[in-house]
Amino acid sequence: MIVNYRELQKNLRAPMSLLTDLTGQEGFFHDETIYRGTPSAVLIAETKDDLITAVRFCHRHKIPITTRGAGTGLSGGCVPSEGALVVSTVKLNSLIIDPKRKIAFCGPGVITKTLQDEAARYGLTYPPDPASYEESTLGGNVAENAGGLRCKRFGVTKDYVLGLEAITADGTLLKTGLYNDNRGFLLGDLLVASEGTLAVITEIAVRLIPLPGRGATLLVTFDAPEKAAQTVADIISEGIIPGVLEYIDGDAAACAVAYEKTEGIDEKAAAILLMETSDIDKERQTSQIRRFCEKNGCLYLQIESDPERVDSLWRVRRNISNATKAIAKAKISEDVAVPISQFPHLVAFVSEMNRQSPLRINSYGHAGDGNLHVNILSLGTDPEETAQIDKLVDLLLKKALQLGGTISGEHGIGLAKREYLKYEFDPATLEAMCSVKSIFDPNDILNPKKMFPVKN
Ligand SMILES: Cc1cc2nc3c(=O)[nH]c(=O)nc-3n(C[C@H](O)[C@H](O)[C@H](O)COP(=O)(O)OP(=O)(O)OC[C@H]3O[C@@H](n4cnc5c(N)ncnc54)[C@H](O)[C@@H]3O)c2cc1C
Repeated sequence: MIVNYRELQKNLRAPMSLLTDLTGQEGFFHDETIYRGTPSAVLIAETKDDLITAVRFCHRHKIPITTRGAGTGLSGGCVPSEGALVVSTVKLNSLIIDPKRKIAFCGPGVITKTLQDEAARYGLTYPPDPASYEESTLGGNVAENAGGLRCKRFGVTKDYVLGLEAITADGTLLKTGLYNDNRGFLLGDLLVASEGTLAVITEIAVRLIPLPGRGATLLVTFDAPEKAAQTVADIISEGIIPGVLEYIDGDAAACAVAYEKTEGIDEKAAAILLMETSDIDKERQTSQIRRFCEKNGCLYLQIESDPERVDSLWRVRRNISNATKAIAKAKISEDVAVPISQFPHLVAFVSEMNRQSPLRINSYGHAGDGNLHVNILSLGTDPEETAQIDKLVDLLLKKALQLGGTISGEHGIGLAKREYLKYEFDPATLEAMCSVKSIFDPNDILNPKKMFPVKN
């Protein structure tokens, strides 16, 4: 697709922010998945006005637009649609905190950790904390409804969005929630998890909460993944809500330990639970958790109190994605979630899949939410691998649905899972979503061919 961008360039306040020669700009062609796109240009927007000008230009010329934040997505959401103008919102990173009202007003380019660090200066926090929080942007978090390690206790992104401002497909600025008067349809709710298919988000107001204290950190190892998974189900079914409850299988842990050479994690463990109790009532919660770990035959349970050691353990968890990517030629990262009672069945299924497959498979996730990230690693030696990977992905996603779960716990649909949406939703519900898309974006220019099954 050849597009003449001269008219747009002329009308931008920052004309240099539009890149039409994409040599050396391949970083804008992909996210953290294996997908690659073919954009026609990239706009690294410096002002909201330039964004509006660009969207209006694309509307007039029917040019697709793919919005991107940090590009840490794991479902292909910001991979440019064919011939798209990539719109990067990373430079729209203004941040104002109103500590009295416990609200932060953020540009979409604000990095999640920056918001957390700034909020902490006022004794506040923004709880959603994807493991990518040092890079991911608020715009990407909202567009994916990102979860994270603390989400069992505190909720996910949608639970904190108070209002949004966004540009619709024809360049109109839409104000929702706090940016308006909180009446009428909750249009902002529609934009959360819309993956850049309904609007370009330009402002985000989020709720902050008082910064919680730290709970006790527990490292528990098991000689079988199923025992760890049963412990998770027991803890949550008992109504215990730890601050964080992460499951890591032995292979995923070994990858992350080797990545940063961390000591003190038992190499023989087949699975690990890494937990932080709630800061309130931590002694009682620790002893309740210990009871379930022992009942399920844990190998050992360690309560970590040295702050440096605690930080290095959480780094192990946060490094898993990058560590597994580093050892593989290609990594398919699936992200399913099931009701907590089914979590042991899901883990058993993945263990069996691993035993039977010649491919290297490992898994980890925000287990307290029933969420399991399954990595299928291609070492690139077998030409039949792609077919095998597709088959395994298909089996896994269908198993999650069969267990009453979802094909995406938190990473979104994007390109990776669009064909599976028809298994998750009945035709009428899917059709209603497609209708919403066509009302917001009648010419289908906002991130086309994402989220929904492609119609032939
Ligand atoms: C190491 C690692 C760990 C991760 N851990 C987690 C985790 O724990 N929990 C979790 O939920 N996810 C996790 N992710 C996935 C990813 O970080 C999240 O989906 C994150 O929200 C994406 O933010 P981003 O700024 O990188 O968005 P991008 O990848 O740039 O974009 C993601 C989607 O948002 C859309 N988008 C971006 N900005 C806007 C905007 N301003 N307006 C409209 N649409 C927009 C894009 O079009 C795309 O569809 C992880 C990823 C990595 C690499």
